[in-house]
Amino acid sequence: MKIQEHTLSAHNFEECMKCTICTAYCPVVPVNPLYPGPKQAGPDGERLRLKDPYFFNKALKYCMNCKRCEVACPSGVNVADIIQEARMKYDDSPVRLRDRLLASTDFMGTVARPFAHVVNAVTGLKVTRLALDATLGIDSSRVFPKYSYRGFESWLRRHRKEQAAFDKQVAYYHGCYVEYNYPKLGKDLVKILNALGIGVRLLEGEKCCGVAMISNGMFKEASRNADRNLGAIRKAVSEGLKVVTTSSTCTFTIRDEYPAILDADNSDVRDSIIMATRFICQALESSGRELRFRDDIKLKVAYHTPCHLAKLGWSIFSLQLLRMIPGVETVLLEDNCCGIAGTYGFKKENSDASQKIGQDLFDEISAVNPDYVVTDCETCKWQIEMSTPYKVLNPISLLADSLAESL
Ligand code: SF4
Ligand code: SF4
Repeated sequence: MKIQEHTLSAHNFEECMKCTICTAYCPVVPVNPLYPGPKQAGPDGERLRLKDPYFFNKALKYCMNCKRCEVACPSGVNVADIIQEARMKYDDSPVRLRDRLLASTDFMGTVARPFAHVVNAVTGLKVTRLALDATLGIDSSRVFPKYSYRGFESWLRRHRKEQAAFDKQVAYYHGCYVEYNYPKLGKDLVKILNALGIGVRLLEGEKCCGVAMISNGMFKEASRNADRNLGAIRKAVSEGLKVVTTSSTCTFTIRDEYPAILDADNSDVRDSIIMATRFICQALESSGRELRFRDDIKLKVAYHTPCHLAKLGWSIFSLQLLRMIPGVETVLLEDNCCGIAGTYGFKKENSDASQKIGQDLFDEISAVNPDYVVTDCETCKWQIEMSTPYKVLNPISLLADSLAESL
């Protein structure tokens, strides 16, 4: 078995006290009998793998890397990191074409965007989805996110001068979703920050954060993107800028997965990379400014905490912003995984487990019967919109749409 050369971050599997709490919290264990669970796949398996790589189990690919085991572990064992590192070290299976396509978001977005209308129409056809299911193993029930004909980057470049006129500035890591699928989210952030007297700059040279590459075994490609992104972030930070983000998974990946999985040292800039929700709460507090809201809003929203935001511990900022909007009643949903885990739920072999994992969340949303579901993760949005009749908004978009003033 080939062992890839890589300087791995320090394991702390010896701190495991074998309580099995992680296994009780893992959403995959109850729905996939092939998966050994976090304790066996993580600390227990690591002891064996260090003795002999023969003990590597390919079923570790069923881990969604949701980090719920790490949040639950009372000993602070980096269970999911240990599992991902084991996959990186010992799994020499070639990356499937399907997985490469799903994980290459910059490439797919660049190719699809000029033909967005056609691509959206074709991928929406049942016959296309059946063909992708039969040929590539992409589950036919999965709804593909729509591509946007125009990107966010070109829009912000057109507004560069007016953004530069603000005394304060931030750099925005907008990521693939805002660039290729939903530029409105980036525009919504600009609207809010401008209302606070802050201009927005592009993070020049940014690439996909690489989270889908990590989960699909494309570690070299993910490392290349990490180097590019950290270079861009260092440049912005050296100019005195904070780097704000609107995707919880991108944020978590750049802050925590780069050093833990890719061995990319970000210690000099990590604290400067923050979710826009947190940045806005802090800006409101430190500046004493207030946002002005419309007075005609009457909505009930259900807030879903994405797993990676739970790991960051930052859902409080999203909730704080939602509760600031007059006329919005916010119901905090139970701590349940939606089941998609990025590209995981797109794969035919995971489809059944993905939907079963999300069922408790879908049922709770139906019981609350909100006007909107709100969450900070785009793939949670895709999963909830595919599996329930409810529309899902990012808290930044709801906040922006609720503002009384416009640009
Ligand atoms: S929760 Fe932590 S300490 Fe308990 S079995 Fe899992 S890894 Fe070990
Ligand atoms: S990261 Fe998620 S799926 Fe993987 S072992 Fe931990 S809880 Fe289970």
